[in-house]
Amino acid sequence: MSLIGSDTQLNQQSYYEASVQRGAPRAPLQEHLKVDAVVVGAGFSGLSAALEMAQRGLQVVVLEADRIGSGASGRNGGQAIVGYASGQAPFEAQLGREDADRAWAMSLEAIDLIDRRIAEHGIDCDRTLGYVYVAEGARKARALREEMDGLAARGIAVDWAEGQDVARHIRTERYAASARETRSGHLHPLKYALGLARAAEAAGVRIFEHSAVMALQRGDTLVARTARGQVTARFGVLAGNCMLPEYGPAVAPEIAARIMPVGTYIIGTEPVDPSLAERLIPGQAAVCDNNFVLDYYRFSADHRMLFGGRVSYTTRTPARLKETMRARMAAVFPALREVPVAHVWGGFVDISMNRAPDFGRLGSNVYYLQGFSGHGVALTGLAGQLVAEAVLGQAGRFDVFARLRHHRFPGGRWMRTPSLALGMWWHRLRDAV
Ligand SMILES: Cc1cc2nc3c(=O)[nH]c(=O)nc-3n(C[C@H](O)[C@H](O)[C@H](O)COP(=O)(O)OP(=O)(O)OC[C@H]3O[C@@H](n4cnc5c(N)ncnc54)[C@H](O)[C@@H]3O)c2cc1C
Repeated sequence: MSLIGSDTQLNQQSYYEASVQRGAPRAPLQEHLKVDAVVVGAGFSGLSAALEMAQRGLQVVVLEADRIGSGASGRNGGQAIVGYASGQAPFEAQLGREDADRAWAMSLEAIDLIDRRIAEHGIDCDRTLGYVYVAEGARKARALREEMDGLAARGIAVDWAEGQDVARHIRTERYAASARETRSGHLHPLKYALGLARAAEAAGVRIFEHSAVMALQRGDTLVARTARGQVTARFGVLAGNCMLPEYGPAVAPEIAARIMPVGTYIIGTEPVDPSLAERLIPGQAAVCDNNFVLDYYRFSADHRMLFGGRVSYTTRTPARLKETMRARMAAVFPALREVPVAHVWGGFVDISMNRAPDFGRLGSNVYYLQGFSGHGVALTGLAGQLVAEAVLGQAGRFDVFARLRHHRFPGGRWMRTPSLALGMWWHRLRDAV
């Protein structure tokens, strides 16, 4: 099984890759460098941590196995959503009310940080506000109502609709209820990742592509080794998402078994008439249902439907992906049934057992960020900032997250897939019933 192999193959077809000019790759690391901090991974988490540390005066190197944003950050649904994949429950149960409230406030801060960075660094990434939550059937509508009441109680203005009124938010017969809010929204994730990289480099960060970290020697001084070079540093940040299976266990075996790489997939159609896009989703919001295996979708800035869904627990790409994804899209929007699908791609989300983010330290000087559980577009940015604060001695906010307890997936590295698949099968059965 090669995560990066299948990933790269899919990524060549991604709408995001097709709609940016990347330029030549940054050179791989071929020397021995000594800096303050070494970051593993050039996705949103690693780039954000690097940018924030450099802005605080540290010398920073980022080592990326593939290319900037080639992991989840450059291939996701682009939906920047308030709150956490886990909801507030693990925070309240484990941290108490006050810190759970701090965590909630930080989820809003994470959204604001996106907009601040876009403005500050001039990142052109098709940012759009507006989010529609949808529910199929009465049971799911009740669950959505409860969730939306929770959002409203926390000060988010929510427009609720049922039955015929759902058409206010989305034109489809599929849903029993919907809710719209404008704190959440979406963006072009690869443009945003490349913009973050430019901002980090402008602040002095050096980024090396095609430079997989194969081993990390720990101690007061860290040594990160790649095939042709090494970086010595006082601080390390592991921001590899589902760290490459080839190296993840070698780099940080303690944390590898606490997350499960789960594949999720997106199709991108050819552009449709802008008036059709506006009729189907007024205001061009992003949409997500509340099924266990969810559909998440939106129109791109050039009016392509980007429709996400399906999952794979084996890291193998599901068979007949394009056809089954197109069928799911047509079930929501029959009007798009005949629109050609131009792109199909996927990637891996790092799911933690309780779906809460898993941040912490190995020893005193290696920080790790993982377990975004499909909710990382906004939170990764803030996570990087929290690492920079902690490295510079202000660890209070980082430690709100670091205090959350996380369990290993039962069965360890090899058996976690069958155990998770069984659990997921049960939830899907419940959705179907
Ligand atoms: C298809 C898809 C759809 C999604 N949709 C959404 C969404 O709509 N909204 C949302 O909030 N979240 C979504 N997510 C999740 C979100 O994309 C992630 O949470 C987020 O991008 C994680 O960022 P990251 O920087 O932690 O990881 P990544 O972006 O995966 O970056 C990690 C990087 O580390 C590199 N790396 C790994 N190991 C090594 C090593 N040993 N040495 C050097 N480099 C290494 C990888 O090559 C990679 O570039 C989605 C994810 C996928 C895959």
